[in-house]
Amino acid sequence: MAEKVLTIADSITVGELAETLNLSVTTLVGELFKNGIAATINQRIDFETATIIVDELGLDVELEKKSTEGAGPERKTHELSDKAVDRSPIVAVMGHVDHGKTSLLDAILGQKVVEGEAGGITQHISAYQTIRKGRSLTLLDTPGHEAFAALRQHGAALTDVVVIVVAADDGVKPQTVEAIRFARSANAKIVVAINKVDKETANVQLVKTQLATEHNLNPEEWGGDTVMVEVSAKTGQGIDKLLDLVLLVADLEELKADIEVPAEGLVIEAHMEVGRGAVVGLLVEQGILKPGSFLVAGTAYGKVRTLLDFNGKPLKEAGPSTPATITGFKEIPQFGDSFEVYKTEKEARARIATAKIENERNAASTNVTGADMLKLMTQKSETPDFNVIVKADVQGSLTSVMDSLRLIETGGQVNLHVVSSGVGNITENDIRLAADDKTVIYGFNVELPPAVKRLATRERAEVRLYRVIYELLDNAKDAMEALLAPEAVETVSGTLTVKGVFRTLKDQVIAGGEVTSGKVTSGLLVRATRGDELLAEAEITSLQREKVEAREAFEGDLCGFNLKTQRKLSLEIGDKLEFFTRELVARTLK
Ligand code: GDP
Repeated sequence: MAEKVLTIADSITVGELAETLNLSVTTLVGELFKNGIAATINQRIDFETATIIVDELGLDVELEKKSTEGAGPERKTHELSDKAVDRSPIVAVMGHVDHGKTSLLDAILGQKVVEGEAGGITQHISAYQTIRKGRSLTLLDTPGHEAFAALRQHGAALTDVVVIVVAADDGVKPQTVEAIRFARSANAKIVVAINKVDKETANVQLVKTQLATEHNLNPEEWGGDTVMVEVSAKTGQGIDKLLDLVLLVADLEELKADIEVPAEGLVIEAHMEVGRGAVVGLLVEQGILKPGSFLVAGTAYGKVRTLLDFNGKPLKEAGPSTPATITGFKEIPQFGDSFEVYKTEKEARARIATAKIENERNAASTNVTGADMLKLMTQKSETPDFNVIVKADVQGSLTSVMDSLRLIETGGQVNLHVVSSGVGNITENDIRLAADDKTVIYGFNVELPPAVKRLATRERAEVRLYRVIYELLDNAKDAMEALLAPEAVETVSGTLTVKGVFRTLKDQVIAGGEVTSGKVTSGLLVRATRGDELLAEAEITSLQREKVEAREAFEGDLCGFNLKTQRKLSLEIGDKLEFFTRELVARTLK
């Protein structure tokens, strides 16, 4: 049993973790580095990584994840007070293209849903409301499923129920599968709407069989627990039943929200309009948004000038689960940002100042996950592969592109791996090949047809088109360099011989000695050795010369110092200390 149990969040910065563990940041960074992770103080690592590191350090500490009650791992939940009230369910309508998602929304709302009304905004979610038997439902629609995926990355608890639309004459298709996956990962309930049942070619049984055998969604009449409704967006058949069942499924969850708290929610759409300024679509999660409220979303500030419902009609207030469109933001917030309401403009502005600092810090860092780390640990010594697919207009140019790529001098640091190559435009097949892993598709003097481009965007495949071979090669070289793990470069600043040890604590040593070469400054890393034995790595936290605090000490100086250690370090007279810096330097292809 570990001595201490420490509770940390799902992800934590290196600095915060060091503080929690009572370790020096350099110790932690060093340990991460040993495990193949080049991290800086503000970098976030996830819980799994933190656990692995704690294990590796042999600390007598057990980490426990701060609980996120009653929800899936990626849901951000608001703690509910006992004053929480019922809220309407939030229902996402998803499905394969042309399976009738838009028609179904039209039929539900009794009006034409104008796709992409926000004009050219790639990432947005349209939100609507409808009333069924006196109860309100919030419906979400998005042009592509990526928008939902993006929101999920923001940790948004957005959807309670996902209605998966499957055309009865077409069956389960790739985006149907994507929708199922989304619903499951978002911990949302699934209701299947089997659409187009008015068609002669409709085969409801086949759809049910596909869902049951291939996707483990078993209809209730077969003894399963997935609600499936036959509908026709064209004739209106089954639409009321669908809504009733969605409400029923939603009732299985306790959907509540607090209203006596400052309003909070998500930005689901944002664009500029002449004469109106920033027009921002919000979905309120808790609290009540009102005209005049002071808002912050990311680093954007606003004061609600107009508050409109999804139809553009003025609202007095917008409570939980309500979609609203507002004006009054000074700049456009980002899709997926959370917004929060503050009591005063001053508080809101203060929040923005902090958010800006956080952003700057985060800009320098990227997230390192446990999975990344395990991958790095197992692949540490392996040479990375640079996977490419090459397409060119004619055989001659294909040959020269391929030859030149192979001639890029990597010094054995990166392997070029040609997944496939050929003559002709980029095809859907190329995208599928590339989508599986990190593969770059290079096109030389060829086109990327629009349909293929859409697939590429959806699959997040990287396609790069060139007409000049050197530009293609430069890009490939940069991409290969990016695959190289950074190198730790140590620079020794000075050395010292221990002449006296004054105090040894669990994580600290106070000692004195003579600088035998170079220079010693506070903040440097320290390697302590006794003969050939490496004792420990520590950090010098303060330095005194002639009993006064000093910035530095030089060869020949006698000085006292404090070392912050990871474990108890028993220094002895005669031990040697080496002071150094360790920087992570991006490697380049020699
Ligand atoms: P989306 O891409 O999923 O939004 O699909 P749409 O709503 O645009 O529908 C694609 C096509 O299927 C359109 O031509 C619709 O008129 C047609 N459609 C949608 N629902 C039905 C239905 O229930 N029955 C029939 N016969 N056609 C439908």
